[in-house]
Amino acid sequence: MSDLVQVAEDGLYCPAGDFHIDPWRGVERAVVTHAHADHARWGSEHYLASASGEAILRERLGDISLETLDWAETRRIGEVIVSLHPAGHVRGSAQVRLERDGEVWVVTGDYKVHPDPVAEAFEVVRCHTLVSECTFGLPVYRWPEPEGVYQAIDDWWRENREAGRTSVLFAYALGKAQHVLAAVDASAGPLLAHGAVQKMNEAHRRAGVELPETRYADTEAAKETRGEALVIAPPSSGGRPGWMKKFGRPSTAFASGWMRVRGRRRRRSADRGFVLSDHADWDGILQVVRESGAERVGLTHGKTEPMVRWLRENGWDAWSLPTRYEGEADVDEGAVDEEVEAPEGTEAPGS
Ligand SMILES: [Zn+2]
Repeated sequence: MSDLVQVAEDGLYCPAGDFHIDPWRGVERAVVTHAHADHARWGSEHYLASASGEAILRERLGDISLETLDWAETRRIGEVIVSLHPAGHVRGSAQVRLERDGEVWVVTGDYKVHPDPVAEAFEVVRCHTLVSECTFGLPVYRWPEPEGVYQAIDDWWRENREAGRTSVLFAYALGKAQHVLAAVDASAGPLLAHGAVQKMNEAHRRAGVELPETRYADTEAAKETRGEALVIAPPSSGGRPGWMKKFGRPSTAFASGWMRVRGRRRRRSADRGFVLSDHADWDGILQVVRESGAERVGLTHGKTEPMVRWLRENGWDAWSLPTRYEGEADVDEGAVDEEVEAPEGTEAPGS
């Protein structure tokens, strides 16, 4: 029997159902795990995605032919029974479960096992073969408990208020921005949002997510709240002096899993780095591999070799799947995901 999922010209492909998962360009039928730009590409004829993520996906892709599934609802496509299960990465992000003649594959998409106030909790799905993302699949990536990180952000914001400085926190517009907004102490002061963040906040509110009130960060709002506000903006805005100048001399910070590596923090010209990721760390990936019961594990995104080696040494049948976007470092309006930002020669463990 052929593999249920293969890497084809346009990305992950299921021949038995004749559909792609997160294809790299427009195809006839696309199952989309979540709305980040490197997973949800425009131009496919038909899309299938989670009902929970619909408002956010439509905000990104506009007028598309979209069918949605509730969590665990099944749909037969060709010879395959397809269902979607929460991936914990961003609101509505899904793992794709595929079943044919009793054989089960799961494609995780991006995921995390740490809790998040906005995304539905990751659900373990039993399978024979797991195709897992591996964005942070190096032993150096082990996340601190998020509660401590939220506290550190609140403390930084308070110290800035005491010093009369506005706080500007760079976070991806879709996912990380809402994660932070839902986690900070919103009663401490005014919350401002860059336009790209505000748009995604509104899509989340349409999807029924409760977020604290955020004001659009125009010049007037920036002046009125100077020295008090926490501003959430996509990483690219930090390199735009024209946009930043309305905040006077703000204190800046970046919230990302990449902050785990000191050198990267230096390269970003932010005052602070908070280690907060929407991806699984080394331990998280291993936990999911074990709990899924999978005997075969395909790894995609990031530096997959160390994880492939570790799994093979420990009894799994593991392999790497090529990813199209590796090495294309670009941060544009927060529309991209963390993995797209991975630069050439990502720091090896211990460096
Ligand atoms: Zn993503």
